[in-house]
Amino acid sequence: MKQDLFDIVVIGAGVIGHSIAFRLKQSKPELRLAVLGDPMSSLMASRAAAGMLAPFCECDKADRFFGFCRESLEKYPGFIEELSSVSGVSIHLSMKGSLMPSSSFGGDWEEQIRFFREENIPHEIWSPDRRREQAPALADSCGEVIWVGEGQVNNREMHDALVMASQKLGVEILEKNVTGFLHDSSTVEAAVTDAGEVRGRQFVLASGSWSSQLGNILDVSLPLKPIKGQMCRLKLEDDRLDYTVHGLLTYIAPWKGKGFVLGSTMEDRGFDPAIEDEAIRDLIHRAAQVVPCLEDAPLIESWAGFRPAAEDLMPVMGKSSRYGNLFYSTGHYRNGILQTPHQADYTAETILETLADEISEFSPQRYNL
Ligand SMILES: Cc1cc2nc3c(=O)[nH]c(=O)nc-3n(C[C@H](O)[C@H](O)[C@H](O)COP(=O)(O)OP(=O)(O)OC[C@H]3O[C@@H](n4cnc5c(N)ncnc54)[C@H](O)[C@@H]3O)c2cc1C
Repeated sequence: MKQDLFDIVVIGAGVIGHSIAFRLKQSKPELRLAVLGDPMSSLMASRAAAGMLAPFCECDKADRFFGFCRESLEKYPGFIEELSSVSGVSIHLSMKGSLMPSSSFGGDWEEQIRFFREENIPHEIWSPDRRREQAPALADSCGEVIWVGEGQVNNREMHDALVMASQKLGVEILEKNVTGFLHDSSTVEAAVTDAGEVRGRQFVLASGSWSSQLGNILDVSLPLKPIKGQMCRLKLEDDRLDYTVHGLLTYIAPWKGKGFVLGSTMEDRGFDPAIEDEAIRDLIHRAAQVVPCLEDAPLIESWAGFRPAAEDLMPVMGKSSRYGNLFYSTGHYRNGILQTPHQADYTAETILETLADEISEFSPQRYNL
């Protein structure tokens, strides 16, 4: 590999790393940018996710994280339009919304409705009759349902588009893993790969669940671990259901024309890639209690991936306090697809020093990074 000097080297080829590179290159075409990492790693979260854009259904308090996710959802239609146009890749995005059946709701139903109302979250309460009319695939036992104004994206198409768009804009994609760094106590000089050193003026650590391993090489202790999720995709006619459904500790996400994705387990077991028949059967069984026709739908594929979870479950985004030319964007945990557009703007603006408001809850400084 040539020992060129890049302006910015992004480490991590998932939706987070590529969206940052895409935004930076769009903002400043003169920058020389490289993205390092395997864009097709079978365990990366970006290709394993269900693609739910769901800031509301799993939330019951309006903190800064909730606000950030909500702002990201608002950016989605424009972001996908822009990305499709630059990349030439079509990306399925639906803003038809999610359904939360009362029968499988774990918390206080009335409290949740109050929260939606107070926070002006677009929602409707569907009686069983209305639910039968709008979503006949749902089991009768679902009872009353809340419709929530959220979204759904095909995250694999979005990731393909991000890689393509970065490439088209002139980002250099080096499919190499980083095995070390050249650095002194305050500056990172190069990322070391099997194919040689990649030198940069600035570096972005965006390596999902693998970020803490890379942090260790830089002598920083990033408290972040992988939370495994097993998932599957079933073949079923599209017109049976248009909404993402949150069911019995499971969710059912429509991938228009490509079946339905069921997820997901939450396992704190390190980097164990095993896909277990029993876990997949259990997902299908639970989903079928909410949408009965899924019970006999043919299985297309099953897989596992790792969610990057920081100790406080918040993203880690911003400038390193230890290295003057290092930035982080990692720890996006269960909502990294949702956060992609907003974190790309946030991280690019941090690097370009145009960010208006730093979010202290997300700062790497909370871990002395
Ligand atoms: C099962 C599952 C379901 C999910 N569902 C949803 C959902 O419905 N909605 C939602 O918003 N979010 C969801 N998520 C979360 C979301 O997928 C993640 O938060 C997001 O994809 C994280 O993206 P990332 O780019 O940081 O990490 P990843 O996609 O994991 O990418 C990490 C990148 O780093 C690279 N890398 C690793 N080690 C090195 C190294 N040494 N050198 C260079 N590169 C390296 C990898 O090759 C990879 O390219 C889900 C996650 C999982 C696992």
